[in-house]
Amino acid sequence: MYYQPKNNLLDHKRILITGASEGIGRQAALTYAHHGASVLLLGRTEHKLNIVQNLIAEAGGRKARVLVFDLANTQLAPYQGLAQILADECLYLDGLLNNAGILGEIAPMAKQDATLWSEVIAVNINGTFMLTQALLPLLLNASSPSLIFSTSSVGRKGRATWGAYAVSKFATEGMMQIFAEEYTAATLRVNAINPGRTRTNMRAKAFPMEAPDQLKNPADIMAIYLYLMGDDSRHKTGVSFNAQSDVKQRGMT
Ligand code: NAP
Repeated sequence: MYYQPKNNLLDHKRILITGASEGIGRQAALTYAHHGASVLLLGRTEHKLNIVQNLIAEAGGRKARVLVFDLANTQLAPYQGLAQILADECLYLDGLLNNAGILGEIAPMAKQDATLWSEVIAVNINGTFMLTQALLPLLLNASSPSLIFSTSSVGRKGRATWGAYAVSKFATEGMMQIFAEEYTAATLRVNAINPGRTRTNMRAKAFPMEAPDQLKNPADIMAIYLYLMGDDSRHKTGVSFNAQSDVKQRGMT
């Protein structure tokens, strides 16, 4: 399907993006801001988030908010604290893009390091779950909220050496489906996006020998991120999309 978003698709929508400092999350933040959203940029590294905030300001976007937060937090309190801070500022959140993730190591199961394994599950699953749970009341206060998870082809069919990362993406697909079953599309639509092979630091770490110019850039795959975040998708829920084949934007590669 080809999708042509309106320029003001996300006007006045308040959208939180995790992993907004780099790669796909950074591009999603810039793209959402370009389409009128007030974006909340969540990540671990303040100076990188500040750069994204400045880029949005220079492009004439609405003022972006930086949220320095580590999704490796294992306690519930920091997540609830963050949700309370956001609730004190505004009682609703129109969208949450759960994009942050870590790769861990590419190694056979027999060699997966148990500490790294736990870190991958902590960030990609546990932290993502606790953040989503804490933000649910704000999402449910919005008129047409959208919750998006980031998946991968290795989270749909097991693949040797993808270890904890693949297991975390299987769990992500499951988490998306359960949330989608628990709410109607009108109350909270919940979907997932598999970006496919995309030129980012994570991809370079997974495939150090690969020629980066053979890959799509994050900017090339934004059609589905816009479609699912905007009201054009308000009847869609429980679907796991492929960014590079299911939805494309005219004029983009
Ligand atoms: P990336 O370039 O490595 O960026 C990851 C982002 O997540 C960074 O902003 C990073 O922040 C943030 N992050 C990592 N750990 C965090 C933590 N503990 N707390 C908060 N933020 C944290 O990755 P990407 O390639 O854009 O991937 C984005 C999503 O797409 C991931 O879920 C990934 O699994 C998925 N995906 C990517 C590809 C691909 O080819 N690129 C393919 C399939 C799926 P810092 O800058 O602070 O580290």
